[in-house]
Amino acid sequence: MTEQLIIAGTRRDAAEGATFTVIEPATGQPLAEVAKASAVDVDLALAAAHKAFDDGRGPWARTNATERGRVLHKVAELLREREDLFATAEARGAGHPMGDARWEVGAGAGTFEYYAGAANKHFGTVIPVQDAGIDMVLREPVGPVGLIVPWNFPLLIACWKLAPALACGNPVILKPASLTPLTALLLGDVLVDAGVPAENVHVLPGPGGIIGDALVADGRTAKVSFTGETTTGASILKSSADHIARVSLELGGKSAAVVFADGNISKAARDLPMSVFGNAGQDCCARSRILVERPVYDEFLEIFEAATRAIKVGDPLSDETEMGPMISEGQRKTSLDYIGIGTGEGARLVSGGDVPEGDGFYLSPAVVADVTNDMRIAREEIFGPVASILPFDSEDEAIRISNDSDYGLSGSLWTGSATRAIRVAKSLRTGTLSVNTNKSVRYEAPFGGYKKSGLGRELGMQAMDAYTEIKNVFFSEED
Ligand code: NDP
Repeated sequence: MTEQLIIAGTRRDAAEGATFTVIEPATGQPLAEVAKASAVDVDLALAAAHKAFDDGRGPWARTNATERGRVLHKVAELLREREDLFATAEARGAGHPMGDARWEVGAGAGTFEYYAGAANKHFGTVIPVQDAGIDMVLREPVGPVGLIVPWNFPLLIACWKLAPALACGNPVILKPASLTPLTALLLGDVLVDAGVPAENVHVLPGPGGIIGDALVADGRTAKVSFTGETTTGASILKSSADHIARVSLELGGKSAAVVFADGNISKAARDLPMSVFGNAGQDCCARSRILVERPVYDEFLEIFEAATRAIKVGDPLSDETEMGPMISEGQRKTSLDYIGIGTGEGARLVSGGDVPEGDGFYLSPAVVADVTNDMRIAREEIFGPVASILPFDSEDEAIRISNDSDYGLSGSLWTGSATRAIRVAKSLRTGTLSVNTNKSVRYEAPFGGYKKSGLGRELGMQAMDAYTEIKNVFFSEED
């Protein structure tokens, strides 16, 4: 079976007829053959999107915001109706456990519902200027947007980008990761079925270095929203520079969870494993540095290790599974290499890091203790199931270690003191922080990074700003 790509809302073969094979992480075997877009397909999609947008006079851009909201509600309804299809595709294509995959379908639908409601509540202002007349600020769609998505949360991150972009009236060109194109294509079908005019919907699987670059560098792409590695983000900034595309970047992370001795240690130690090992550690928000105040360090480590050993690793299609395989052999090898680097630098492997017998890219969650912040496993994003545990001795030291990172995406803080929570939360250089819990992302709230973790924000009403231009118009009242 070959999955065709989508240009102007229509499934078709790639212009050059090429395909590529998608591998199932749980088996290591071929799962699907997918049309492989080339620069020719990018050109076809951009030509159609540019025509459909028609400098802001196209039908979708001009559809009133309430009606656009209705269409997005329909997208959410269809996603929920097709939950089995999407969840199975994400479980098999990305290795997500079925329970997580079902949650992701619901969260994707929730994102569309949020922006369905936002569509007619994002508006301009009237400014009391000195001149006689009325000064209005209008919000207008920015134009064709290129949405480039990684493999770790293929469906969810696509929804985070598509929903606000469409709510604002823009044509969308979605470029999924080559490892995980399946749910993006299903989502493209849903958009068309829900009533987004077909010429505004394009989904192009294919090599990022060729078609991603062609999409970014083309002057018809008004905005690029990218999620992926920091180095790729930097290259996107460069290739979009000549035509001054609007760019937002969600990049890597090396987030810290800080556990103070006055916090609920047993809850923190029981909850924190899934903040690193969820999605097999392939999560930009993973709390991969866990800082624990020295007096409770041993107690924390004991409970954390026991909770980690209890995580059910296995077949993503089983309802029992809590952690599935990694996405690829390469990603697993990177994690194994980092465990070796960590122990070589003097850290202590407490448990895990084993490759089980059999097929698939499985790796048991690894707990590495006595890490110091100068070690590579504390500084570099591993993007795998490896937790580094670091002791600290004071509030100041915890803040200093947390902030001593190139990244600043997410993080947690565990304390029983409200005043300490306020002090430390204000001191941490990170875009998202949760106190006494791990959850990072809520689609109602802005999400993004400080430092090398990104540029701009996704989600919340901030995303609506990112997919619109501001036009200031002054109406003179003088005849
Ligand atoms: P990559 O940067 O390798 O790829 C991300 C996407 O960009 C893929 O669709 C890829 O296509 C495409 N791409 C690759 N090269 C280019 C290029 N030159 N121009 C345009 N597009 C290109 O990241 P991964 O897929 O490996 O994802 C993992 C990374 O994503 C991690 O570092 C993680 O931290 C980060 N991430 C950040 C999040 C955040 O919100 N901050 C959320 C999730 C992940 P192809 O697959 O064909 O190579």
